[in-house]
Amino acid sequence: MSTITWPTQLLAWFETQQRPMPWRQNPSPYHTWISEMMLQQTQVATVIDYFNRFIALFPDVTCLAKADQQSVLKAWEGLGYYSRARNLHRAAQILVSDYDGQLPSDYHELQVLPGIGPYIAAAISSIAFQQPVPVVDGNVLRVFTRFWFIETDIRKPVVRDQIFERLSPILHQVPPEDFNQAIMELGALCCRPVNPSCDICPIQGQCQAFEQDQVHRLPYKSKKEPVPHHTIGVGVIIKDGKVLIGKRKESQMLGGLWEFPGGKMKPNEEITQTIEREIREETALEVQVDGFLCQVKHAYTHFKITMHAYLCTMRSGTPTPISCDELQWVSLSELDQYPFPKANHTVLAHLKQID
Ligand code: SF4
Repeated sequence: MSTITWPTQLLAWFETQQRPMPWRQNPSPYHTWISEMMLQQTQVATVIDYFNRFIALFPDVTCLAKADQQSVLKAWEGLGYYSRARNLHRAAQILVSDYDGQLPSDYHELQVLPGIGPYIAAAISSIAFQQPVPVVDGNVLRVFTRFWFIETDIRKPVVRDQIFERLSPILHQVPPEDFNQAIMELGALCCRPVNPSCDICPIQGQCQAFEQDQVHRLPYKSKKEPVPHHTIGVGVIIKDGKVLIGKRKESQMLGGLWEFPGGKMKPNEEITQTIEREIREETALEVQVDGFLCQVKHAYTHFKITMHAYLCTMRSGTPTPISCDELQWVSLSELDQYPFPKANHTVLAHLKQID
């Protein structure tokens, strides 16, 4: 008989304190998969609406596999990290062709599918199939570096491996689906990054950082390199009431999404020169840069941008997709049908005002 008591306390706490979430009401493998893919890098509050809309559009693996990629990206628009949507779509097609439309339950087999790494595989196999596999996400890392007083840099993979190893035998003694969700919920509700609520924490009695009054010191995280900043110029070329948009190459970041042509400003360049040069290089068009439209600041994971958007007039040339997959002239009323990266949404909003 195990002497461990904290998992029991944790599970009792989870039973009464867990937040209602649509994917918890019907934890099918498909719902678990979609929700966990969305929850990577995105807050629960944001994910709920996206999840409900996505499931309404693509209620099962077969519907998702049959959908065209643009409609999947459109449903994902605004969530960011669009490779998640492209991978979901590709994985659904593989599931239909090779797995009879069913997600496998095995932790290792799941990781053969595009976009499914150790974390998502553990979540699906434990939550949807009750397999005893620990889920180790950012919340879980934070909880256990404090609970077990692990002082190693949390960015190092060895910390994840160590926590996975220590949790593995425990997962055989508890309902894996509840235990994994309980830890993640504890990290979100009690063991928060700053000002954790140790006073109401169900596992406080065995928490080593709490006992030693060292909670504020953990987890230890080494400093990140400073994030580079890029100045971007984009041109909104208007002709006969339509604007020119390009579809980013599949292999690029934000692949498959649409945008206005433009790119990074070079040293000693004016922003209007950047726009003229980038449009020439990307589309083979010569344009005249007219009026300023708007400025947008946006932060990606590894860099930040300030984007300057200008209205442009076409002077000569034939639109040619040199560095994108496709170019299209689209009326302002049709723009909503295309998936755009978030930074472009401000440009779209300004365009609607001048319509
Ligand atoms: S007692 Fe505090 S630091 Fe320890 S697990 Fe609970 S919330 Fe986290």
